[in-house]
Amino acid sequence: MSEIKHNWTKEEILEIYNKPLMELLYEAATVHRKYHDPNTVQVSTLLSIKTGGCSEDCGYCPQAARYHTNIEGNDLMSVQQVKAQALRAKASGSSRVCMGAAWRNVKDGPEFNEVLEMVRTINKLDMEVCCTLGMLTENQAKRLAEAGLYAYNHNLDTSEEYYKEVISTRGYEDRLKTIENVRKTNVTVCSGGIIGMGEKLEDRAGMLVALSTLNPQPESVPINALVAVEGTPMENEKPVEIWEMIRMVATTRIVMPETQVRLSAGRTQMSREGQAMCFFAGANSIFAGDKLLTTPNPDVNEDMEMFKILGVNPQQPFIKKAQPKTVEAEDSEYKDLGEKPKWSRPGHTIDRNEEAKEKGKPAKVSN
Ligand code: SF4
Repeated sequence: MSEIKHNWTKEEILEIYNKPLMELLYEAATVHRKYHDPNTVQVSTLLSIKTGGCSEDCGYCPQAARYHTNIEGNDLMSVQQVKAQALRAKASGSSRVCMGAAWRNVKDGPEFNEVLEMVRTINKLDMEVCCTLGMLTENQAKRLAEAGLYAYNHNLDTSEEYYKEVISTRGYEDRLKTIENVRKTNVTVCSGGIIGMGEKLEDRAGMLVALSTLNPQPESVPINALVAVEGTPMENEKPVEIWEMIRMVATTRIVMPETQVRLSAGRTQMSREGQAMCFFAGANSIFAGDKLLTTPNPDVNEDMEMFKILGVNPQQPFIKKAQPKTVEAEDSEYKDLGEKPKWSRPGHTIDRNEEAKEKGKPAKVSN
C-alpha cells in the first residue's frame, strides 16, 4: 500500500483533475482497487429528523428559513419514528442511517438528549449511525460517541475562499473546529462538499486540499452535485455535467485513497451509465431512499436493480471499523454542560443570498 499523502497542493490536484479522462480513470481505478473491493458499495439512508426553519443562509439550501421554498418544516421526530425508519432502511439493504437536523449548531438540552437516545436505539439495531447536526463542541462530540455514534458529517462545502460567497452566517474555521472536536473521539469523520454552485475549478481543488491535508483524512467524503431548488439563491445554476462529477470523484479517490467516496445529492440527474463510471472512478458509497433530506433521490429498488446489473454488493456494517459500544444515559461520563459556545458569525453581505431573501416578501406599499 502506498503512503497516504497529506501535503497535496492546489496545483497538483488541478493537474490530476485536468488529465485526459482515460488516464484519470485508469489511475483512479488502480488506486481504488488497491484500497477497496471494487464490487462493494456502502449504502446509507439519510433521514431528516428535523426539517426546515434553519437560521443559516447557506445559498444552496432550501431549509434556510429566510428563502422562499416549498419545503414543509417538521419538528424533531420521535425516537420511535426514527427506529421504524431505521428498520425499514436495514430491510432494504442500508448499513448506515444518517440523521440530519437543520440546526446551526447543537444545543445541550432535551432535544439533544432525544438525539442521543436515537443514536443508542439505532446502534442497538446493529447499524452504523451517523449524525449531521451542525457545529459541535468537544463535550457534545464525546456524548455522541458514548451513545454509540459511528460517524459525524460536517461538510466543508467548498474552498475557504468561495465559502464566503455561499454562507455569511458562519466561518470556515468553525467547520474545521467541529471536525477537530469529532477527532477527539472514536467517531469517524464524514466531510465533503458540493460542486455546481458557481465555483471555479480552483475552488474544487481548494476543497480537496482542505480535506486531504487533514490528518487523518476523513473516512468518508460525500461529493454532491448541486440540486438547484427554486427560491434558493442558487436556483439558476446550471446542472453539473456528468463529466465534472466523474472527474471530481476520480480526483477525490486519488488524493484520499482510503476514504469512502460517497455519491450524494444530484444522483437523480445521473444515468446508470454515469453512476457506473463514477463507481469505476472510485465512488464506493451512495445515499439511498427517495429523498435526500429535502431533494429527490433515486428509489431504493432502482438502486438495487442497478447493483444487480453491475454485480455490486452492498457493504455490510462495521467492515471498516468495529461497532462502538453504547453507554446508557444514566451511566454517562459526560453530562449536559448547558454550553453556549460562541461560533463565529462573519455577517458579510452576499448579494444573491440577499436577493433570494427579499424575493418572496410582499412589496412595501408607499404612499
Ligand atoms: S445547510 Fe444546514 S446549516 Fe445551512 S441552511 Fe441548510 S440546514 Fe441550515
